[in-house]
Amino acid sequence: MTLGQFECAGYSTEPAPDREGNQRSAIVFELVPADASDKPAETDEQPIEEVELEVDLIGLRTRALEAARSTPQVTGAAARRSLYRRSATVRRYVLARAAGVCESCNEPAPFITLQGEPYLEPHHTRRLSDGGPDDPRFVGAVCPDCHREIHHGQHGRAKNEALIAEISRKEAATGA
Ligand SMILES: [Zn+2]
Ligand SMILES: [Zn+2]
Repeated sequence: MTLGQFECAGYSTEPAPDREGNQRSAIVFELVPADASDKPAETDEQPIEEVELEVDLIGLRTRALEAARSTPQVTGAAARRSLYRRSATVRRYVLARAAGVCESCNEPAPFITLQGEPYLEPHHTRRLSDGGPDDPRFVGAVCPDCHREIHHGQHGRAKNEALIAEISRKEAATGA
């Protein structure tokens, strides 16, 4: 049986007996379903406390990279909140990077949201990466059609590879 993919939202250490009954310190990983941070905005949109509109792409990128590097040493609801905040920071940057244009097909976003922003969906191009699940280098902003095709289409894998290449081209241009 497979339970699907999970991402590590954080970890803690706690004492646990080993096979001989000696107390050891065990690392307990807090896992959340990998899809938790990769849902279309309409289903995972929750109030974000800081809603200030930053236009400085470099500043957004710095914060997104910082957020991606930090693995919270907490579990439970706090870990999920922290993972959500991290996803929100990364998403804000990725949407700013896309500037209203799908990073896969290069067409304008299909509509403008109630908040007045072009509607694009964050897509994680890799499940597990050195930079963590929310590394902005591995998250693209794509239109709903491209997003579905990447996940369900015959050429989804190739489309995902092309998206990875496009993102790294953009990231190289942004610097660092
Ligand atoms: Zn598209
Ligand atoms: Zn996706």
